[in-house]
Amino acid sequence: MLDVSLLEKAIRALQQYSLCDHCLGRLFARVGYGLENFERGRALKDSIYLLVHYKLRLVTSLEEQKRLIELVLRLAESGHEPSLRYLNDSLRMNVEVKPCAVCLNRYFYKIDKLVEAALSKLRELKHEFRTYYVGSRVSKEVTMREVEITTSLGIDTAESIKRELNRLVGKRLRMHLYGKEFRRDNADIEIIVDFERDQVEIEIKPLYIYCRYRKLYRGVSQVQLRLNVVTSVQKVLNETLGELLGAEEVIVHASGREDLDVRMLGNGRPLVIAFVRPVRRPEPDDFKKIAEEALRDAPVELNTDVVKRATKTDIVKLKREANRHSKIYRVLVLLREDVTEEQLRSLESYFRNRQIVQYTPRRIKRKPQHKKRTRTVYELRARKLAPRLIELLVRCQGGLYVKELVTGDYGRTSPSISDTLGVEAIPIELDVLDVLET
Ligand SMILES: [Zn+2]
Repeated sequence: MLDVSLLEKAIRALQQYSLCDHCLGRLFARVGYGLENFERGRALKDSIYLLVHYKLRLVTSLEEQKRLIELVLRLAESGHEPSLRYLNDSLRMNVEVKPCAVCLNRYFYKIDKLVEAALSKLRELKHEFRTYYVGSRVSKEVTMREVEITTSLGIDTAESIKRELNRLVGKRLRMHLYGKEFRRDNADIEIIVDFERDQVEIEIKPLYIYCRYRKLYRGVSQVQLRLNVVTSVQKVLNETLGELLGAEEVIVHASGREDLDVRMLGNGRPLVIAFVRPVRRPEPDDFKKIAEEALRDAPVELNTDVVKRATKTDIVKLKREANRHSKIYRVLVLLREDVTEEQLRSLESYFRNRQIVQYTPRRIKRKPQHKKRTRTVYELRARKLAPRLIELLVRCQGGLYVKELVTGDYGRTSPSISDTLGVEAIPIELDVLDVLET
């Protein structure tokens, strides 16, 4: 009626290796819902023990009896209490328990002690958290032995020792962490239980906030430059919000960047702010209030309408999407000679959906000079403000070098405003009016 190959596999495992209840049970972790591995392991040992005794009543051959007693001996060596008692009481055999072939009996007895250590660390922790993850560290040798044994026995129902330890520690911690939520990904803190070193580490993960920033003044860079002459978005956020949240550092990951002398207006440029090891971890609604208050007189503003919690993967996404955002620029251009209204109208029609080929501008030293990029100008509007002074509104693909679109950069950008008008054009003021979602 039943398939007993499971028991046969367990017998084969015990004949080859001494395995504690946890490590035997773990080989069959995917069998028997609702059981913990040590219960599974103990149940298997008990079943084998019963089968042996049932058989012992029936066999007469000495050879066969010996083989059965051998099996009880294996059970006893693996720490099976009834087998130890039986061999001792009935056969006067004093059997020594062997260390488990996988864990060497070095880990499972430590769980309670390490959970206690974790709880006391958590009680002392001044950092706020709402979600946590539990991970354990074991020695490489243990993991290697485990894989070796599972493979050599051809078992496909096992789970790893780390997974079991994580679960057992997690279960115990959960009882004490009322109101906190276990989370596999992007948890606020990670509780790392090191079974080799007998210690617990608590890793405070950064708080990531997605937002958009506005730069209201010229002369503010995005991240801090080496020369401390100007301020930066990063520095402003560090000194205001970073301080208020008790973060050790604030790191700014933005979707593209504008030059030092360019203002960032409109809805602002998308960014993810990473608050490193923050003491406070406000939810987006509270964050908005704190940000508005903290940045009241700052040269940088956050567009709090779009605030949301972010993750590390959002940073990658943000960088990837930088070139997909289209942007609107306003450029004030000084011309070497005056131009007519007609010239401006034809400039507008020429730059409708026009592809621009650009080699890295000469002013940019950090990138290879021969790098070529192609970006599109979708739309251009020109307005004469005074003789030789025009204002351009440019809607274009992200990543276009707008200053070079104006000057032509000695032929490195083509076509350009200068070339098209046939007049030298100098950008004297530039603003990003908006960064548009794709
Ligand atoms: Zn073990």
